[in-house]
Amino acid sequence: MAFGVLIVAMVVMAALVVPWSRPPAPRADQVDALRELPADRVARGKALHDELRPGSYFTLVLGLVFALVLGLTPLGAKLVTLMGRPFGGHWIAQAVLGGLAVVLVGEVLAAPLAAWRHAILVKYGLSTQTWAAWFVDLLKAFAVGAVIGSVALLGFYTIARLAPRWWWAFGAVGAAALVVLLSFVLPVLVEPVFNKFTPMPEGPLRTELLALAERDGVPVKDVLVADASRRTRAVNAYVSGLGPTRRIVVYDTLLREAEPPEVVSVVAHELGHAKDGDVTTGTLITALGAAAAVCGLYLLGSWTGLLRRAGVESLADPRGIALMIAVITVVGVLATPVQNLISRRIEARADAHALALTGDADTFEAMERRLALVNLADVDPNPVEHVLFATHPSTVERIAAARAYRRGDR
Ligand SMILES: [Zn+2]
Repeated sequence: MAFGVLIVAMVVMAALVVPWSRPPAPRADQVDALRELPADRVARGKALHDELRPGSYFTLVLGLVFALVLGLTPLGAKLVTLMGRPFGGHWIAQAVLGGLAVVLVGEVLAAPLAAWRHAILVKYGLSTQTWAAWFVDLLKAFAVGAVIGSVALLGFYTIARLAPRWWWAFGAVGAAALVVLLSFVLPVLVEPVFNKFTPMPEGPLRTELLALAERDGVPVKDVLVADASRRTRAVNAYVSGLGPTRRIVVYDTLLREAEPPEVVSVVAHELGHAKDGDVTTGTLITALGAAAAVCGLYLLGSWTGLLRRAGVESLADPRGIALMIAVITVVGVLATPVQNLISRRIEARADAHALALTGDADTFEAMERRLALVNLADVDPNPVEHVLFATHPSTVERIAAARAYRRGDR
């Protein structure tokens, strides 16, 4: 019942908040845009993505197979038991160490694939990281994941022990609360683990950006610059955080590579996200999804055949962690295309906002070209892969939308 309500709430929310009605960018404009981009750079972007593709699919399949093997056989339960043994099989050791072990083994298996990816990015001159720095990043990501994972695992199994009949209700509320909390604290606690953020230096550009935000009616205290150049040549910007932790971040590479009016165009896009509350929307949809996931797990917990496969009696037993992770992994893979569809819609709306706010389709187009050429984007990707994996409209779609705007079509 609660599961149904949460799923319906999530669908209704997505239906209401996501801009579904916006017409697609005209294909004729996309074809023109593609023809006008420098062919050698377009080919290089395609070549890069051709090289990355096998590793990406392999990572996806490996993650799924690994999760299913551990979750649908007693292997996962054995691993959890093993981790708890030095602590006399205490449930906290099983829950936290067992859970982390299940995830960590998967991460270690996938690490060579991540290294393969890094080697390709270095070869194409996109990554500026040494192997040592890359490895430190990997360890940091493990550490951050371990902290967040421990909180979630400890919270979940504490609730499951205290309220054996009602854990789904408390767990759903807890999962949703954790998602909201993370949205607040990630920009101030986690992002600084990976990058240094400094306020954009005083100057005409900073003044212009803050004036733009003011004109847009979006309260922005500061524009931050991230030292992305320690890792990549790629240029980018993003908005993260909620309420007091909301910030617009531009990469230092963007300031270095792009003309100031292009930076204004990028920030106008990010202001669109802030103005439409896209971070809030994303957080709420994710929170509903997390709550629904807990209820869904509870329902699956009465499927004795499934429990028997994993060698556990109940999902409240930490030895069933691998089974839960397997279910979450499968649902996550299936949900990704839906999330990406929503993301592309929201990104297209932020583009439209940038065009309307700046009224400058030429600069918008120049910025899109720059973004694509510097980042070696696949500017006109395979439609199936685009639908499955792309979080943003393609470069040619974004340029085509700018051209339609310039003609006054939208
Ligand atoms: Zn965006």
